[in-house]
Amino acid sequence: MDALDTLMMQIAWGADEALDEAPVDRTRPPPRPAPLLRPAPEAPEQPTTAAARARAVAAAAATTDDLRAALAGFQECPLAATATNLVFADGDMASGIMFVGEAPGEEEDRTGIPFSGPAGALLDRMLGSIGLDRSKILLTTLVPWRPPGGRPPSESEIAMCAPFLIRHIALRSPRLLVTLGQLPTRTLIPGKEGGRDDGIRRMRGRWRDIIIEGLDAVVPTLPMFNPAYLMHTPAAKREAWTDLLSLYHRIAQS
Ligand code: URA
Repeated sequence: MDALDTLMMQIAWGADEALDEAPVDRTRPPPRPAPLLRPAPEAPEQPTTAAARARAVAAAAATTDDLRAALAGFQECPLAATATNLVFADGDMASGIMFVGEAPGEEEDRTGIPFSGPAGALLDRMLGSIGLDRSKILLTTLVPWRPPGGRPPSESEIAMCAPFLIRHIALRSPRLLVTLGQLPTRTLIPGKEGGRDDGIRRMRGRWRDIIIEGLDAVVPTLPMFNPAYLMHTPAAKREAWTDLLSLYHRIAQS
């Protein structure tokens, strides 16, 4: 039977319509169904609070200069609008000994230099008593803008500034850290003790190894009274002297 006879026979049997465009080989397993479309990958989450945005901005800084520029451009902290100058750092940027103060005062706001006012003069004397001076340490503050009228910074202002301080510490990787006063102490050493109003009285003088995001090794940290507090509380100078001696010995060992 030739092809024409076969075709005529199929028409006679009623098979006179092609069902598919192309022939189908039914001896092969059916093709697998097309995979369901995957949902598009989610866009990276946008930080929703100013503190989270501060964390993202600070984390992106690869150098201390980047960090300073990022801080200068971070206008979300209301203190940036009322301060005269950003107060970032002073001293030796490569020093392995980093001091962290609380917030700039009037003189610091005018000069842009941390501890350039009366509390700074006392700090210089304290450093001198153990053979240090500003050229041998790196000095910075938790809050880099002076709060209006010298009021204490609010919790939300601290929360926006803390990521920049933590990034600053990570970028400098100091071998020793000194926190001057309650605010930097409880920011870097959070916990029940740090949250108390008298936290610095309880925490000062005791070295702790703290974990800083971005650093592999812990950073030995000594909380001390802020010189601004010592100016008004001379009775605390005795404890401050004990703490300075502890710092002196630790530096000698490190
Ligand atoms: N001046 C600063 O710059 N920081 C302080 O913590 C206190 C006075």
